[in-house]
Amino acid sequence: MKQIEKPNWDETFLIEAVVLSARGSCDRLRAACVLVKNNRIVGAGYNGSVSGTPTCDEVGHHMKENHCIRTLHGEENAILNAVADLNGATAYLVGAPCTDCVRRLLQAGIKRIVNAGDLYKNPSYAKDSAFSQQLMKEKGVEFVQYCETVEEVLGLFAKLFKRLCGPGGIFQNVPTATWPRLLPDSDYFPKGLTETPSDC
Ligand SMILES: [Zn+2]
Ligand SMILES: [Zn+2]
Repeated sequence: MKQIEKPNWDETFLIEAVVLSARGSCDRLRAACVLVKNNRIVGAGYNGSVSGTPTCDEVGHHMKENHCIRTLHGEENAILNAVADLNGATAYLVGAPCTDCVRRLLQAGIKRIVNAGDLYKNPSYAKDSAFSQQLMKEKGVEFVQYCETVEEVLGLFAKLFKRLCGPGGIFQNVPTATWPRLLPDSDYFPKGLTETPSDC
C-alpha cells in the first residue's frame, strides 16, 4: 500500500521547534530550541523571561544596547532544561543563533546545529554569523541551514498535514472541502491560508 511520506527526523524536530517557538514571550523574536540525542528529545526551550517573572508580552521589553535582556534565549533554556548529557547531541533551532548561544551550545557538547528560517542570513547577524561559523568550524560542529526561507518552513507543515490527513492521521476525517472554510474563518489562521493539498 502506498504510504504518504512522513517527515524525516530533522523535519520532525524542526517542526517541534517551530511549534515551541509559539510559546516565546518576547515579540522581538519568538525563537526556540529542541535538543536531541539518538533521536530522543533531551531538552527544549523558547525565548522567555525567568520563570515566575513578568514577560515582555506582559510588561514590555527591557532594552540594553539594542538587545532585550528580559528573556533567556531558547538555546539557553533548552540547555538549562536538559535531562541528559548533551555531548554529541543535535540542536534544532528556530531563528538565528546568537554568538552567546553558539558558544553555549558548543560548550555543552552539541555536535550538530540545524536551523529553520532565514534569520541567520539577516545582514544584522552577519558579523555574529561569521564568528559563529568560525567557532563551529574550529570545534568540528556541523551547521545545517535546513530551511532557507519561511516558505520552506511552511513546506514542512504542508508535509505534516498531508500525512495527518491520510490514513490514521488526526485530520483523516476532516473533509477536504471544509478546510478552506475553516481556516480563513478562524482567528487562529492567517487570511489566505486556504490552499489544501489536492490529494489530502
Ligand atoms: Zn523582549
Ligand atoms: Zn541566543
